[in-house]
Amino acid sequence: MESIRVETVVKQFGGVRALDGVSVEIAPGELFFLLGASGCGKTTLLRCIAGLEIPTSGSIHFGERDVTKLPPHKREAAMVFQSYALWPHLTVGQNVAFGLEERKVPKAEIRIRVAEALDMVKLSGFGDRSIDQMSGGQQQRVSLARALVVKPKCLLLDEPLSNLDAQLRVEMRREIRRIVKENGLTAIYVTHDQEEALAMADRMAVLSNGKIGQLGTPEEIYRTPRSAYVANFIGETNLIEGEVQEFRSGFATVQTGGGPMVGRVSDPNWHPTAGEKVTLSIRPEAWRLGTAQDNHLTGKIVERTYLGQRIQYWIETAIGRQQVVELNPHVIHEPGETPVIVQSRHDDVVVLKA
Ligand code: ATP
Repeated sequence: MESIRVETVVKQFGGVRALDGVSVEIAPGELFFLLGASGCGKTTLLRCIAGLEIPTSGSIHFGERDVTKLPPHKREAAMVFQSYALWPHLTVGQNVAFGLEERKVPKAEIRIRVAEALDMVKLSGFGDRSIDQMSGGQQQRVSLARALVVKPKCLLLDEPLSNLDAQLRVEMRREIRRIVKENGLTAIYVTHDQEEALAMADRMAVLSNGKIGQLGTPEEIYRTPRSAYVANFIGETNLIEGEVQEFRSGFATVQTGGGPMVGRVSDPNWHPTAGEKVTLSIRPEAWRLGTAQDNHLTGKIVERTYLGQRIQYWIETAIGRQQVVELNPHVIHEPGETPVIVQSRHDDVVVLKA
């Protein structure tokens, strides 16, 4: 197992600064996710780590080794792409063996290692099939086997599941996590799919404009986003503007257009002062339809979507539409119902810098 350390990496493409001083340390054996809006620099960072791009400045270490300028095949890192990048005219086995043949591994050993790699991705016995006889999910397993066969220390995955249908994607999440953990790999995974990241990651970084916006466990990022960008990007949220009235022991009372609300300040090093403009983030499931207590808004149900185990409502209030998700609801409300009250616990309202 090996750590990956990225130190103040800058990558400039002509006038575009794709990475703007990124530093992050990924622990040995960790499954680490990179997320963020399109163009924020995720792929560029992954490609710098893989050796497919050389940073303009800064350094990258695998364990104690400085790999910043090392070519990809000398890094002991294997990459898995969204497109699978398989050779269509070769069999499954030949595709998996490719990297070993390039490295001049003896034929007998290649046979054993290919069988092991296919076994790891649950494709034992498929070695002689041609690639076009394999489904999309199976092809992605082949590309995983091809990455694993060279016994890398690090696995770099660039949206590996985005070409698969929804059900297969969910199944493959568990498979990839199992493979990473069973093989003691340090893995970095780029995705657009925040649910995939929440479900799979040990930790994740949310990038914004070539910088790390926030880094933490899925729970930390979801429960305590540090900015409206992160709150919006990971999961869905309602954002409400307001002005601080009072701050005490990590909680702020904020005057909003719908009355005062109390929330938890997301950054422990920030002590907002009276009059400071802030934004409140309230997750849809943190709003409860109920009776008037503190931290509430009054409104009218304008839309309802039934989603089986949960119901999503849109509620028009004096300060805009609120999305409310009720899990396992006993009562189903009707669109048009008014007045309705939504209420949230102090701990579920996150106070962010405006
Ligand atoms: P997406 O989610 O759309 O794949 P991303 O977060 O992976 O985006 P990158 O592909 O890393 O973003 O791109 C970051 C920025 O660098 C973008 O503005 C992009 O246009 C630019 N960029 C990336 N590669 C190159 C290149 N080879 N030449 C010029 N500009 C590039």
